[in-house]
Amino acid sequence: MSKDVNKSIFDLIKNHDHEQVIFCNDESLGLKAIIGIHNTVLGPAIGGTRMWNYRTDDEAVKDAINLSKAMSYKSSLAGLNAGGGKAVLIGDGSLKTEAYIKRFAEFIKELNGKYWTAQDVNMSTQDIIWLKEKCPYVVGLPKENGGLGDSSSPTAYGVYVGMKSAHKYLTGDESLENKKILVQGVGNVGRKVVNYLIEEGSEVYVVDINQKNIDLISSKNVKVLNPDNIYDNAYDIISPCALGGTINIDTLEKINCKIIAGAANNQLSDEVQVSDTIKKKNILYVPDFLINAGGIISVYHEQINDLDPKKVMKMTESIYGKVEQVLSYAEDNSLSTHSAAINLAKQRITQNSKK
Ligand code: NAD
Repeated sequence: MSKDVNKSIFDLIKNHDHEQVIFCNDESLGLKAIIGIHNTVLGPAIGGTRMWNYRTDDEAVKDAINLSKAMSYKSSLAGLNAGGGKAVLIGDGSLKTEAYIKRFAEFIKELNGKYWTAQDVNMSTQDIIWLKEKCPYVVGLPKENGGLGDSSSPTAYGVYVGMKSAHKYLTGDESLENKKILVQGVGNVGRKVVNYLIEEGSEVYVVDINQKNIDLISSKNVKVLNPDNIYDNAYDIISPCALGGTINIDTLEKINCKIIAGAANNQLSDEVQVSDTIKKKNILYVPDFLINAGGIISVYHEQINDLDPKKVMKMTESIYGKVEQVLSYAEDNSLSTHSAAINLAKQRITQNSKK
């Protein structure tokens, strides 16, 4: 590695305030992994492993750095005694074998519980089970393997209560009855959000690029939109529940809604410019890492070995109050809601680091 590359990696770590970044390599298995440990002041770093065919190693490093930092903020805001971490496996999914996954498990095990992993993009339930066979520091397992199972249920519930809280903040009324709501992406989380909204009597619009997932929606009382026409309507709420980056300068030109509140990670294509534009457009944006914390709340309960799903849902319900807190803080301090959420997350970490 040249001195320049070394320097830029350390600059990156320093700029984002990381405690540690670990590079793992096993030539014989084609395994190249990066584990980012952002902050462990509140507790062990928890965050999933994702596999991605990054174009460059640099891109993989940046992803590990950004994602692990976001996990610190997510856990801090959710009130968990957990820090932020994330692992990335570099390469195509075809590299994955049992031996590959179990070798990666050894690397995590060597960290002695400073980092706990879970499932993320391109990792299967089988991969998580193999990881757990070799390493105790793995969460997000199916119920039959001693875990709390699919985290999309608490995630969807958190999004639903977060929407209600934001609506109350804006209008004084938490009811979503007859409100026009677009759910963008009806996969595991989005479909469950739709169910809550139908139950409440909202006017629900959905869009998905996968017809099979639309067909899985149990209620026929939803309006299915073509992806090209979604911004032709005005909505009370848009709920991004597909992939990241759907809120960007181009879509903001077309978006006509009062509130943006959804599960997708990294909804804003650019944190500073986009969150400022949202504020100027008078749209109330509920930060993704605040409202989608149901999943981390679930795996955290596995990490502390408290396998009571009711407790997970109860803690997820507290997202209602946290949304109110972040929105008031943003208003009182003339900040974007995104910056307000980060400030509050950092405050909790700083207060604890002084203890
Ligand atoms: P999923 O893969 O089950 O569902 C995503 C859905 O979005 C799919 O139906 C897909 O076809 C659709 N989609 C993709 N691109 C689209 C597009 N351009 N337009 C419309 N639809 C599109 O994923 P999920 O588990 O439901 O998670 C949804 C989002 O929430 C993801 O961003 C995920 O990172 C985030 N999230 C999930 C959890 C969880 O517990 N599952 C927790 C926190 C955050």
